[in-house]
Amino acid sequence: MSDRAAAGNEVLLEVRDLVKHYPTQQGWFGRAGGKVHAVDRVSFSITSGETLGLVGESGCGKSTTGKLILRLQDPTEGQIVWRGRRIDQLGAAEMRPVRRELQAVFQDPYSSLNPRIRASDIVAEPLRNFESMSAAVGRERVAQLFERVGLRADQMVKFPFEFSGGQRQRLGIARALSVGPKLIVCDEPVSALDVSVQAQVINLLMDLQQEMHLSYLFVAHDLAVVEHISHRVAVMYLGKIVEIAPKKAIFTRPQHPYTEALLEAVPVPNPKVRKQRRVLSGDVPSPINPPSGCRFHTRCPYVEERCRHEEPPLREVERGQWVACHLRQPAAHCAAEAR
Ligand code: SF4
Repeated sequence: MSDRAAAGNEVLLEVRDLVKHYPTQQGWFGRAGGKVHAVDRVSFSITSGETLGLVGESGCGKSTTGKLILRLQDPTEGQIVWRGRRIDQLGAAEMRPVRRELQAVFQDPYSSLNPRIRASDIVAEPLRNFESMSAAVGRERVAQLFERVGLRADQMVKFPFEFSGGQRQRLGIARALSVGPKLIVCDEPVSALDVSVQAQVINLLMDLQQEMHLSYLFVAHDLAVVEHISHRVAVMYLGKIVEIAPKKAIFTRPQHPYTEALLEAVPVPNPKVRKQRRVLSGDVPSPINPPSGCRFHTRCPYVEERCRHEEPPLREVERGQWVACHLRQPAAHCAAEAR
């Protein structure tokens, strides 16, 4: 249980042992081959008003996890529990009220908005799907949303190509907000934007969170952005969570060798500071045939013999800090509580 859940914040989302495997095909006749282990037994929760950052290298399964939660794809196994109710097997009609509470903002504002539809209709579309209202009331609601995300009401008649990248992402946020969501899956929402614009969009998301008590699953590979916006951070490697902890613990006392390596790779914006970098050796192994034991063992500088055969469980090593590494032992209070 996270500190926020213990403090009485509602647990909105629980993901339990989530798995997504994609079958691969072999040969000219497309015979079934192996499978891509995109997400493998991932578990976490998000409380109301919380931002969980989900980080890792490309292909680690973080975006797939977001799509599974949004039910854009069906999980292979595992449970997705939304406000106490399993949603991983719901049909389209039963998912409808949940979709209103679970919205998304995607990476590429250039391709996630229909170029042939005026901005006002882009924002109003989800609203019309869930509520019947007069055209005048709809226009008024959309105008309010435009102003709330830092756009002007007179821009409602424009088409997406008439907006800058940052403005298009504001449109995407207004669209997600239009139906009053509780949790927004933000999938790399600022990585296609200039750095100065990134900061504006991140600050907007943080202001909206304060004002509306929103929760975010914030999928990103930029650790500086994740550090700024998150309350807790989960680190993924080859489809698995290897560390999950409050932001401060991740950024000041990382416990998993992969988290350490990710942090050491972050450039320091000061030419006078020379950073000792431990660069990860080797490539990320194929998710079709992930390494046995600890999936990180082919690149880990501390690898031991048992790492090659025994998969380390995710254990609480400090209060609220969970790590999957044989070198880390449960903290005394965690071991005592487990007894
Ligand atoms: Fe490295 Fe072994 Fe820990 Fe995996 S379990 S991160 S290989 S030390």
